Formats: sequence, structure tokens, C-alpha cells
Amino acid sequence: MTKEVVANIQYGGDYAEKLREAAESGECVFCQDTFQRDSKFFLMGYQGWIARKSEFPTKDVLGGIPDHHILIVPERHVGSYEDLANQDHVRVSTIVAYLRSRLGIRGGGLVHRLGHPLYSGATVLHVHFHFVVPRIIEIDGEPRAVFVNMPIG
Ligand SMILES: [Zn+2]
Repeated sequence: MTKEVVANIQYGGDYAEKLREAAESGECVFCQDTFQRDSKFFLMGYQGWIARKSEFPTKDVLGGIPDHHILIVPERHVGSYEDLANQDHVRVSTIVAYLRSRLGIRGGGLVHRLGHPLYSGATVLHVHFHFVVPRIIEIDGEPRAVFVNMPIG
């Protein structure tokens, strides 16, 4: 089972440093209890999955932070999308529906990068979904979602 972390040089700052440390230690960041249960970020657990706020939320095209950037992660190490059971997809859907209701989320995106990191841009090779909700600004008197930069590749 691969528990690899890719120190993707396209990331900078604190996140790049954390990736470098994880790559050196050989530990899967997402398997660690300190990641899964960190009370600063933890939102919920459900049938072997957790949802937590991203410690390093993506930016939108105006340099701001989306309203929500939530990671949905299996507690057990799953190295590949194809290794998820059908029931896992039901669990992810249930978590998304619950969070939408609880947080009043009207829309957003659910992103999963799959395959080799060269193509996906993934850094942590432990299956996870990004649930990203853009912030809304007013342009010409109309509410508009600010595009989110979610790198793939
Ligand atoms: Zn893991």
C-alpha cells in the first residue's frame, strides 16, 4: 500500500513546507489522528469518513478565500479512487447533503483528483474529496460567485 506524499513544487509557503516534512517522514498525513481529529478543523465523522476544513484553503481568482473548502476523507488509507467501495460513494453523498443543510450551502463544487500526481496535481495520495463553496460578491448590483482556482495537473 502506497502512503506517499508528493512535494509538488507548484505549491508554496506553509503548505509546501508541510508536504516536504511529510515526504521526508514517509507518513501519510491524512492517516494521522492529529489530522483527522484536529478540533480546529474537524466538522463531522460518518461511517469511517470524516469532513474537516482545509488547513490550506484554495484561493479564488480575486485572491480571496472561498466561503468553504472542506476535505472529505476516509479514515482508513485508500490509495486510489478505484479502491473505493460503492458504499463509500453513498457515504460521501450523505456527508455532502448533511453539510449543505447544516452550513446552508446553496452550491459549489465537489472535486476529486485521480490517477498519477503528474496528471492530477494531487499531493496526498490518500483518497479525498474537496468540497469548495465560492464566495459571493456583488457585481453591477447582481450576486456573482467568484471563480475558484482548483489546480488539476
Ligand atoms: Zn493515508
